[in-house]
Amino acid sequence: MSTSTDLKARKAAAVPNGVGTKGIYVAKAENSELWDVDGRRYVDFAAGIAVLNTGHRHPKIMAAVAEQAHAFTHTCFHVVSYESYVRLAERLNALAPGDFAKKTLFLNSGAEAVENAIKIARYHTKRSAVVAFSGGFHGRTHMTMGLTGKVMPYKRGFGPFPAEVYHAEFPQPYHGVTTEQALADIDRLLHADVDPKAVAAVIIEPVQGEGGFNVAPFEFLRALRRLCDEHGIVLIADEVQTGVARTGKMFSIDHAGVVPDLITLAKGLGGGFPLSAVTGRATIMDAAHPGGLGGTYGGNPISIAAAHAVLDVIESEDLCGRAGRVGQRMRSHLEALAKQLPCIGDVRGLGAMVAFELVKDAKTKEPDADLTASILAHAEQRGLILLSCGTSANVVRLLAPLTIPDAVLEEGLTILSAAVRDAYGRESTRAVA
Ligand code: PLP
Repeated sequence: MSTSTDLKARKAAAVPNGVGTKGIYVAKAENSELWDVDGRRYVDFAAGIAVLNTGHRHPKIMAAVAEQAHAFTHTCFHVVSYESYVRLAERLNALAPGDFAKKTLFLNSGAEAVENAIKIARYHTKRSAVVAFSGGFHGRTHMTMGLTGKVMPYKRGFGPFPAEVYHAEFPQPYHGVTTEQALADIDRLLHADVDPKAVAAVIIEPVQGEGGFNVAPFEFLRALRRLCDEHGIVLIADEVQTGVARTGKMFSIDHAGVVPDLITLAKGLGGGFPLSAVTGRATIMDAAHPGGLGGTYGGNPISIAAAHAVLDVIESEDLCGRAGRVGQRMRSHLEALAKQLPCIGDVRGLGAMVAFELVKDAKTKEPDADLTASILAHAEQRGLILLSCGTSANVVRLLAPLTIPDAVLEEGLTILSAAVRDAYGRESTRAVA
């Protein structure tokens, strides 16, 4: 019995069912490759779900973490503070869009950042309602589950969810939801369901992650900005998956030239160490009273040291530029494959956040979740780690580290094509038989 097989059995006995896993057990990892406990090598197109934009164990991040570990590892910022937290806040305030004073709060996870952004928006506006979007994903805590617009696997069985959360249509041109229709849906919501003067915040992922890598049309984001300005609503960009150079800019909303009031960040920020942030207008960020925000571990010194190194690496290695090139290469590869295989209905994304949607029929666009699962399994057998997404679980997403060498990127894309052909060939044969 392999060590992986043994670990799968031990996991099944010791860890709850709800903690879903692929069944790969890692022994070591380096940049865009990893090796499992049985010695199998994988090309990593998942990057710990968009966390490792700077790759596994970037030497500069490792060095920063080691240096910090020698000095101190935890004091709790609220009890004994440290300069590195303040300096990272200063750096993010300077990087975030908006020509106004900004402030930043650090937390541990993406969900915690979103929770805090909502707390801050509610405190500032003295309103309670929040508008989120269909297909959106914001986390697994109660408020963030409530905001999430995707039932499986995130919401089923976990209700009731917090009140005063409303969902509007997210524009999806491939599925016939235009910007105009999505705007009309918000209009309907604000007339039929909730008074705009009761809305504290609108929260949106500029590119939906778990929802299927749906890119919000820039005009839609601009219209949301106008709507929020008109009604005094706080616009929150959830950049937990899209942020930190992933889409070719530090923040994906920069592509649209829209300035949100608050931005949530996590994943790529800590370069593999747990760290999240809320950055935004000082006047809004300052609303809550001392002690109202924070937590025991938020802005842990080790994670903060890692984040400083992440920002340095993004700049010194031009990872925004690299994201554009990696994404372009992925897209052209997938677009060529889509021309040959009708099961690929759509190729989309922004920067190095690239995905393709699997359909049973190019015209009806009926989702093919089985084929998607089969592609992931074939890729894994051939040594490539992939993730799926989409409200119908029929989208394959590519999230390679931005530091991936060209040769490893090509290797991954070659495996990907073979896996799609394997899975599609098998499915077509089954359909004929
Ligand atoms: N928001 C977005 C857009 C995400 O993609 C995620 C995680 O995938 C979250 C929030 C939640 O982050 P975490 O899993 O760190 O709580």
